Amino acid sequence: MRLQNYAEGKWVEGRGGFRDLLDSVTGLKIAETSSEGLDFGAMLAYARNVGGVNLRKYGFHDRAYMLKALGQYLMGRKEELYELSYCTGATRKDSWIDIEGGFGTLFAASSSARRNMPDGQVYIDGDLEALSRRGTFMGQHIATSMQGVAVHINAYNFPIWGALEKFGPAIIAGMPVIIKPATVGCYLTEAMVKMIVESDILPQGSVQLILGSTGNLLDLLNCQDVVSFTGSARTATKLRATPEIVKNSTRFIAEQDSLNGCVLGLDAGPGTPEFDMFVTEVVSEITTKAGQKCTAIRRAMVPHKYMDAVETALNESLSNIVIGDPRDKNVQMGALAGVSQRADVLEKLAVLAADNVINIGGFKTPETGAFLSPTILRCDDPMSQSLVHEVEAFGPVSTLMGYESAQDAVDLLQKGGGSLVASVFSYDPSFTREIIVGGACFHGRMLIGDRDSNAESTGHGSPMPQLVHGGPGRAGGGEEMGGVRGVMHYMQRTAIQGSPSAISNIIEQFLPGAPINVVDVHPFRRIYKDLHVGDTLKSKSRKVTVKEIEMFANSTGDTFYAHMDEEAAAENPFFDGRVAHGYLLLSWAAGLFVEPAPGPVLANTGLNNLAFMTPVYPDDEIKVSLTVKRKKRRTETYGEVAWDVELTNQNDDVCARYELLTMVAFEDIYT
Ligand code: NAP
Repeated sequence: MRLQNYAEGKWVEGRGGFRDLLDSVTGLKIAETSSEGLDFGAMLAYARNVGGVNLRKYGFHDRAYMLKALGQYLMGRKEELYELSYCTGATRKDSWIDIEGGFGTLFAASSSARRNMPDGQVYIDGDLEALSRRGTFMGQHIATSMQGVAVHINAYNFPIWGALEKFGPAIIAGMPVIIKPATVGCYLTEAMVKMIVESDILPQGSVQLILGSTGNLLDLLNCQDVVSFTGSARTATKLRATPEIVKNSTRFIAEQDSLNGCVLGLDAGPGTPEFDMFVTEVVSEITTKAGQKCTAIRRAMVPHKYMDAVETALNESLSNIVIGDPRDKNVQMGALAGVSQRADVLEKLAVLAADNVINIGGFKTPETGAFLSPTILRCDDPMSQSLVHEVEAFGPVSTLMGYESAQDAVDLLQKGGGSLVASVFSYDPSFTREIIVGGACFHGRMLIGDRDSNAESTGHGSPMPQLVHGGPGRAGGGEEMGGVRGVMHYMQRTAIQGSPSAISNIIEQFLPGAPINVVDVHPFRRIYKDLHVGDTLKSKSRKVTVKEIEMFANSTGDTFYAHMDEEAAAENPFFDGRVAHGYLLLSWAAGLFVEPAPGPVLANTGLNNLAFMTPVYPDDEIKVSLTVKRKKRRTETYGEVAWDVELTNQNDDVCARYELLTMVAFEDIYT
C-alpha cells in the first residue's frame, strides 16, 4: 500500500524517497510513504485562502455542531480503524484510548464550545472594565480567530487521539489544519483523515495531511499561523528555533517528553487501599500502549520503608501480564511502535541501568516484531543521582525511588524539571496537600488517588479534554485541551475600548448604557428568532407596603430584623428603617415582567450576577426594565436567552440588577 498525502483538496502520492512502514508485531512491510513533491507553499495558501475563509463564515457553535457530527460519523466507522491499529502493536484496549478517546475529544470540544462560547464569531474574554466615571467609556477583552494555518506535528504513540485532541480546538476557533503525524504508524492517521474527507462535514480546505517530511513548510509560516508540536524535547528545541518562526513570533506550542512522578504516601503501607491502587497504577502505566504514553509514570516514589513491599507487589502483578500479538484477546500488552523505537528504549535503559539496579524485568516476549519486557529499576538514593531525572525511556520502563519525608518527595518531583502530570496515592490530607502545593508549579496536572475516588477516578495517565494537558519546563510549556483554554491558542486576544453602545455592537451583547428598543409586543410572546439583543420591556410600577413585607416574612420564615423591626433596622449602617427582602424584590420583579399565558418561553433556568444596590422601603414604587442581553442555541428546538433585569425605584435608582436565564422555543407550540 502506498500512502497518500492530502494536499490542496486532492489525495496525492509522494514522488520518490519512499519510507517503508512495518507491522510492529510481524515486522513485515505494510505500506510505504513519502511527501516528496508536495508544494508546501501552495498547501499553506490553500489553507489560508480556502479553508480559513470557509471556516470563518461560521460561528463557534456552527463549527461545534460540525465537530459533533464528525465525531458521530467517525464512531460509525471505528472498527476499520481498530483493525488497522493492531499493526501499531496496540491491543484493543490501547486502541480504545487512541480511537474512541480521540473521538471523545471532538465531542468534548464541541460541547465545551457550545456551553462556554457565544453563538457568534467574537469570544468575550472576562468582564467589562470601567474606564470612566460616567460610564461612557469602557474596555473589554475579546478574542477572534487567527487567519492563518494550524500546523499540527504529532508524536507516534497516538496516531488518532494525538491528531484529534488538537484538531477540535483549532476547528472551533475557525482555523484550518495541516496534520503531520509521526511517520511510523501514519497509515492509521491517513485512514482517519480519509474518513474526515469522505464525511463531507467540514468546509472545503479545513484539513490537509502530510505523510513524511515537512520540507520547507515551517520556513513559510507567518504571524497568523500556529505550530502545535508533540514529540521529543530535542525535536521541539530544533523546530521552535526555525528563523522564520522566531522572526514572525509564530505561536509554537510544545508538548514534549516528561518524567512524570507518582508518590506513594507515607501513610499508605501494604494492606491499605492506596498501596494497592499505587501498584495497579504503576503496572497499568507501563503496560498500556507498552509504556509509550507521554503521561506514563517514569519515576515512582516510595517511602524507603515500603520499597521491598512495592517491589514484591509489582513483580507479582507484572508476571501475570500476558505479552504478545495484540490481535489475541488474552493479550494485555502489545509491541512498541517499531523496532527503532525499541532500540531507542533499550539504549536509554542501558544508560539508566548503569547507575541503578534492574530489579524486575525479563518477562517472556515474542521474538519477532518490536516487543519489550516491562522493566522496573530501583534507585535507593535518587537525591544524589541526576540521570534518573533526565533520561526518558519511552517504553515499558519505570524507576522506583526511595524517599524519607514529604518534602523529599516534593524535591524529587521537582527534579523532573517540569512534567505533564504527577499523582499521589495517600489518605492523609496533610501529606497530599504538601505534595500538591509543593509540586503543582512543576506540573500541568496532578491527581490525588485514594479510596474515596478510586471507583470513578480516570487515573494518572488519562488527560481529560475538559482539563489542560501540558506542563512547564521540560514538558514543553504547552497547554492543550482544557475546554476554551485550548481554543485560545488559535485566537488572538485584543482589548477593545469605546462606549457601551460601540462595545455592545461588537460583542453582540447588551451592556447597560447601550441603546435599547422598547417593544410593544411582550417579549415572552416572541419565539427565539424574533428576539433581538436590546429588545426591552418596561414594566408598570408597583407600590411597596409593610403588610406585604410582613406577609412574605411570615410565610417564608425569613423574619430577619431588618424587615421586621423598624428601630433595629434604622441602627443598621446600611438602612434607614425596615426594608423589603431581596428575595421579595426578585419575586416582585418576576410579577412585573412575566407574561403568564403559555407561549415560547419554556422555563427559567437560573440567574447570574445578582446585586442588590439600593434598599427598598415601604411606600417606594418599584419597576423593572427587562432587556434581551444575549442569545445562544441550545438544542434543535430551543435556545437560551439571557435577559438583563434592572429593578429601579421612583427616583430611578437601581435597586437590583441580575441576569435572568430562560429557554425559549424556536416554534410556539401553543399557537
Ligand atoms: P519526535 O521524534 O520528536 O517526533 C515528533 C514529531 O516531529 C514527528 O511527527 C516527527 O516526524 C516530527 N519531526 C521530527 N523532526 C522534524 C523536522 N525536522 N521537521 C518537522 N517535523 C519533524 O518524537 P516521537 O519519537 O514521535 O515521539 C516520542 C516522544 O514524544 C517522547 O519523548 C514522548 O515523551 C513525547 N510525547 C509527548 C507527548 C505530550 O503530550 N507531551 C505526547 C506523546 C509523546 P517523523 O516521524 O516523520 O520524524
